[in-house]
Amino acid sequence: MVAPRKGRGELREQPPRTRSRATGRNRPSGGGTATLPSRTRTPRDRPVPGLHWSYVTVDRPEPAMSVTSALAEGDLLRRQDPELAEIVLGELTRQSTSLQLIAAENFTSPAVLAALGSPLANKYAEGYPGTRYHGGCEIVDVAERLAVDRAKALFGAAHANVQSHSGSSAVLAAYAALLRPGDTVLALGLPYGGHLTHGSPANFSGRWFDFVAYGVDAETGFIDHDQVRALARSHRPKAIVCGSIAYPRHIDYAFFREVADEAGAYLIADAAHPIGLVAGGAAPNPVPYADVVCATTHKVLRGPRGGMLLCAAPELAERLDRAVFPFTQGGAQMNSVAAKAVAFGEAATPAFTAYAHQVVANARVLAAGLAERGLAVTTGGTDTHLITVDPAPLGAGGKAARGRLAAAGIVLDCCALPHGDARGLRLGTAAVTTQGMGEAEMTRIAALLAGVVSGVTDVGRARDEVRELTGRFPPYPG
Ligand SMILES: *Cc1c(COP(=O)(O)O)cnc(C)c1O
Repeated sequence: MVAPRKGRGELREQPPRTRSRATGRNRPSGGGTATLPSRTRTPRDRPVPGLHWSYVTVDRPEPAMSVTSALAEGDLLRRQDPELAEIVLGELTRQSTSLQLIAAENFTSPAVLAALGSPLANKYAEGYPGTRYHGGCEIVDVAERLAVDRAKALFGAAHANVQSHSGSSAVLAAYAALLRPGDTVLALGLPYGGHLTHGSPANFSGRWFDFVAYGVDAETGFIDHDQVRALARSHRPKAIVCGSIAYPRHIDYAFFREVADEAGAYLIADAAHPIGLVAGGAAPNPVPYADVVCATTHKVLRGPRGGMLLCAAPELAERLDRAVFPFTQGGAQMNSVAAKAVAFGEAATPAFTAYAHQVVANARVLAAGLAERGLAVTTGGTDTHLITVDPAPLGAGGKAARGRLAAAGIVLDCCALPHGDARGLRLGTAAVTTQGMGEAEMTRIAALLAGVVSGVTDVGRARDEVRELTGRFPPYPG
């Protein structure tokens, strides 16, 4: 099978863009995200760079937009629908009093929440700025252009589509833009950390395409590069997907580009997890290497729930846009698009760069602490926010461990492990870092987690400790 496109050698020659945009030079103009109540010191009064909502302080201070105003809206909800208001409050309490270690989760800023809850939610806007199928789009057009421009600047992309409703929708659109049903696609197998959209038989991807799976080395947990190359040579896939829901290490995009070129395949980077680290200069940028980059905006990137597509080659721009609308989606959610713009504005600040690096520093300390206490850390550590461990050495399987931890207020997921069928645990540091926690707290969490999993620590006592710890780092203070 011959890939219907010209070689991409010119992209490989081009060195990956260094993260100059993380310095804030590309800070979007005219954005003016509100200045939020900042806390520049930890409760122990030790200055820590760029923690908490001080992350989003921008040049032009405006009246503080605290969660107090969001709570005022909560009052409105309480008066009209107390039943639902109770549910919202209950969830806020749950998020604030337990430890959010789910690798894909984060606490989005009050400014992002404000954009999500804005009247832009009312607007129908099928199509793209300047070419809408609906009237009255002149204002939301400005919001979408702002989001697109900020995304392009943040990631050094020639084109950005910010309409994807989710990460999965972005992947669907990438396939729709580049592939036809029945095409062969090479991707990380689901047992090794591939996403549902990477060929699961329960997903459109597995139904409509012929997926071939590469894996990770059973011993080390690292992606088996030799296998990737061999499978690409023997199957001649139309596209190769790199990206994972659980892989804790940086992905070697240059390697995947080389293999894709050799096979005449497109390279699709599904960077749903690390894209926020990319924004903060704490992980390599896939944009210069991949034909299409799919991402979410709600994981480490800390924006609203949603997806986006990026590409370095302007020739693909129109195909990508048509693959999103009208091929796989209808009207864009303009409140989400606006909230994405807010998040991209935050991500372009030096404070977010500090956040992204702190996320990784925290994950490294947490991984080391877990290893020290006997858990088997996949790949021996992490380059990112994400850690996967096998709790078996402490005498518990993944599912049982997750249950015990949940009872102690430590919320995380199970995941596949590189070897065998046993389930492991997957955790991440994006949310706790947003709360302002640092290395000292990670060491404490490692001890708590290991104690609960092994049964050494009483679950009730652990729950009290979690309450005490989270009480000092409220995600939405004020
Ligand atoms: C999270 C994730 C997705 C899907 O994102 P949704 O918004 O849940 O649809 C896709 N691919 C990868 C690798 C992911 O981690």
